[in-house]
Amino acid sequence: MKPKICLTASATLIHDGKVLLVKHKKLKQWLCPGGHIEGNELPHQAAEREFLEETGIKVQVYSSLFQPRSIENDDLFHPIPFVVNEHWVCRENYDLRLNSFKNKSEFMPNLLWQKGCEKHLNFAYLAKLNGSLEINPAEGESTEIAWFSLEDLYGKYKAELASSILKEIELAFSLAK
Ligand SMILES: [Zn+2]
Repeated sequence: MKPKICLTASATLIHDGKVLLVKHKKLKQWLCPGGHIEGNELPHQAAEREFLEETGIKVQVYSSLFQPRSIENDDLFHPIPFVVNEHWVCRENYDLRLNSFKNKSEFMPNLLWQKGCEKHLNFAYLAKLNGSLEINPAEGESTEIAWFSLEDLYGKYKAELASSILKEIELAFSLAK
């Protein structure tokens, strides 16, 4: 049985030589703002919505590669992510689901990941500011939000950052316009 894969999207905003990160409440790690892609939503729209919900800052994502212009209104080219990454979120949920399948018992997800998340496939976009820089997360979101230089991330925050996220942010710094 293959792991369940949720589609997610994130946005990376670099401003004045710093990147804005949010400390994830469950993972206790610094991440680019992002989350699950909801029904009928396109990946880049989810990235912009999640960024706004988690930080209060309005961004517009942009393509990491040249994109042709749209031909007609119903024939659209959308922004291209700069990274697509697949990773485990809750391996335990996969094991629990496998066991419940074998034992013909009801699948009860891990208490921390009640939606039953197992793996995430994340579309990471570059983003530019589309409003003010005032930080104002929506209710229930993490209130730990901060700007980091690459030096900060190589230094004292390294332990609170996944190595794959650091790789992603390094690439974003090199691509950001
Ligand atoms: Zn998920």
